[in-house]
Amino acid sequence: MYDAFIAQLREQAGTKERIALHQPVFPGNEKQYLNDAIDSTFVSSVGPYVDKFEAAMSVVTRAPYAIATSTGTAALHVALKTVGVGSGDLVITQPLTFVATCNAIHYCGAEPAFVDIDPQNLGLDPHALERWLDEYAYIDDQENCRHKATNKKISACVPMHSFGLPAAILPLLKICEQWRIPLVEDAAEALGSEFRGQAMGTFGRMGVLSFNGNKIITTGGGGMVLAQTPEDAARVKHLTTTAKRLDDFAMFHDEVGFNYRMPNINAAVGLAQLEQLNNFVARKRALAKQYQQWLPEFGLQFVDEPADTHANFWLITAVCQSKQQRDMLLTQTQASGIETRPAWALMHRLPMYQHCLHDGLTVATQLAERLINLPS
Ligand SMILES: *Cc1c(COP(=O)(O)O)cnc(C)c1O
Repeated sequence: MYDAFIAQLREQAGTKERIALHQPVFPGNEKQYLNDAIDSTFVSSVGPYVDKFEAAMSVVTRAPYAIATSTGTAALHVALKTVGVGSGDLVITQPLTFVATCNAIHYCGAEPAFVDIDPQNLGLDPHALERWLDEYAYIDDQENCRHKATNKKISACVPMHSFGLPAAILPLLKICEQWRIPLVEDAAEALGSEFRGQAMGTFGRMGVLSFNGNKIITTGGGGMVLAQTPEDAARVKHLTTTAKRLDDFAMFHDEVGFNYRMPNINAAVGLAQLEQLNNFVARKRALAKQYQQWLPEFGLQFVDEPADTHANFWLITAVCQSKQQRDMLLTQTQASGIETRPAWALMHRLPMYQHCLHDGLTVATQLAERLINLPS
């Protein structure tokens, strides 16, 4: 079976060479804009490409405000701070995610509380969220949601759109609204993904994107906060620019801020990449269609886009029949120069997060060890 699987992968990719999991490509204006940025001498965090990239992202996602940052992790950190996540708080998220989600929570002095995922879309499960809140949370006199046993404030909920597949965003929003919990979307993997024509990252109070080298578009390294209100956008901008006051000539900083702005040379690459987004998404979707046709022949379940969504299929994901099969597939493909990857180790199993609250995580535990990411 494994030889046939590898043969099929090679036929699809049309190469006998190494096949990467994901490879950035620069088919457009990347070099031209980059040269222009260098020639202009505006290479750092002030420059026309930062403004252009933000404006273009705002058009593409229809987010009212877009603020570029040095990484996606930085974007998450300031978005969480902006919605009020502080020391001693709890932030609900999913156990199946990249560690940056939890690290950003930790940078705020808060701790993640893990709620199970939906087996279909691999994102936070609204039913599990509702069950957990019903059992363990209450709303206090100031309309803050709190954890019953510890009285800790539950100051945000961060669903993640896994591998670009939109999570069940409307039910999640409804529950968070009922419980007075701000929702921040970790849409780091989901630029170009939509639910009923609306971009992921624009449903919650804020959304976060990443442009790391392995994401659907890249700036080398970078991120973006998508915001809905001028107040949130101003707060994000303030925090990412070392809390520098812009209203006078005094070089004055009014709180501890961060140096999280995206440099102009990264934004130059980002703008050119964003011009290619539709092209990249179309190619990923065409590839997904091919996988969908033949994966079942090998007993693998292709993880498809949920109803009413248009996914970017950033990383093609399949569910194997067993952990054994998954491990064999990983070993065999990697031995023949085909890059495949297991899903991340679940967050509640990492040493720094293993003491955190969770709801049992039955689905995530059963599913994670059977997930495989295929060359995308
Ligand atoms: C990539 C990613 C991030 C942010 O990563 P950076 O490398 O800091 O840009 C955050 N969350 C998820 C789920 C990611 O995949």
